[in-house]
Amino acid sequence: MQPPDDIIRLMTIADNFDRIHHQIARAERIAGRAPGSVSLVAASKKQDKESLIAALETGHRIFGENRVQEAQDHWGDLRPLYPDLKLHLIGPLQTNKAGDAVGLFDVIETLDREKLARALQDEMAAQGRALPCLIQVNTGEEDQKAGIHPKDLTDFHHFCTQECGLTVTGLMCIPPVDEPAGLHFALLKKYRLALKLPYLSMGMSADFEKAITGGATHIRIGTALFGSRQ
Ligand SMILES: *Cc1c(COP(=O)(O)O)cnc(C)c1O
Repeated sequence: MQPPDDIIRLMTIADNFDRIHHQIARAERIAGRAPGSVSLVAASKKQDKESLIAALETGHRIFGENRVQEAQDHWGDLRPLYPDLKLHLIGPLQTNKAGDAVGLFDVIETLDREKLARALQDEMAAQGRALPCLIQVNTGEEDQKAGIHPKDLTDFHHFCTQECGLTVTGLMCIPPVDEPAGLHFALLKKYRLALKLPYLSMGMSADFEKAITGGATHIRIGTALFGSRQ
């Protein structure tokens, strides 16, 4: 007898987490990286509650969300049940949502402009929360894409840390779709070393193994874990 569809879906998600953890471990080994040196951020945008719960039931606790409102819908009532949950904001943040973001998230991966740095500084002070932030770098210098341009990165990092007192722990990028991702991973790693930062968030479903070879400490995976988005 076949189990019902919803059970099959939950089993599939658990299998996917298993498979991805094995692939991460293998990529760490091949790259000579320490076991467990890469954190999996499960990108849960446009997934339903059942899928999130299936992921939680595998023991997974680190999730990435793109939008503040959707993150509140997803995690508002689950959060109190999972005190060790860690939510990363991985989508663009409008300054008028900075307060909600500081209240909900544990890590902001998309710090990319001075106005946002100021808004986060004010909100963190008001809420007594000091969230670690990653600076998003527009390594491909694409007009439509968020992120600070590489030429402005050093000054911006200085502004965030010295002027705003933010805790910047690393860099994040989303490579252009039509270029080899490895090139952009290498650029981001170079910038990380120049700024002496510990973390690199790079690599998605299609290229996370390459990102691990390139030094990623955080990979953000959606479809390879949850299947296609609604
Ligand atoms: C959706 C998303 C991901 C995950 O992408 P997949 O290709 O589904 O793995 C990673 N990073 C960001 C910023 C995203 O928006």
